[in-house]
Amino acid sequence: MIIFDINDLFDLASVPLSQLKHRGGTFHSTKIGERGRVGVQTAIGDILDNVWREAVEHVALRDYESWLVDALEEWSTKLAFISSRGEARKYALELYSSRIFDNKQWVDYIEFNRKYRPDVVKDERFLTVMAECCRKPGEMTREQYEAAYTTCPICGRSAEVTIINNEIKE
Ligand SMILES: [Zn+2]
Repeated sequence: MIIFDINDLFDLASVPLSQLKHRGGTFHSTKIGERGRVGVQTAIGDILDNVWREAVEHVALRDYESWLVDALEEWSTKLAFISSRGEARKYALELYSSRIFDNKQWVDYIEFNRKYRPDVVKDERFLTVMAECCRKPGEMTREQYEAAYTTCPICGRSAEVTIINNEIKE
């Protein structure tokens, strides 16, 4: 069962963003020779890709957060696996639907928020860490440091990192 029409299944004026959180892509094959349908798995069901995009754009507009989707789109265009504007928008909507900018384990948490939401991070304290590959100090959140998978804050490669300073500066 795939949701084809936004208006039939939920109320866009009140649906919380969390209900539209992207949990993964879905694919429904059709008759041989026809293209299958691409969907998005969410808490309220499997939604046709275009319908899901439209719904998330609507919620962003409703919640005065379209600027965040725009920021995530601009951010996404730098990524190696993004090859078009449309892909960047889709990826930005995925990131927005999971409110990745609030997730301190997100590898871009510090950089993204310093650029687009400086007030959110201005009073936060981060760890100063270093990895073997670059041997240059960089910053990391405690949540990133404690994650199972860590990356060098300088080059972004998978690396073991060492805390060189976690003193709270007065
Ligand atoms: Zn490195």
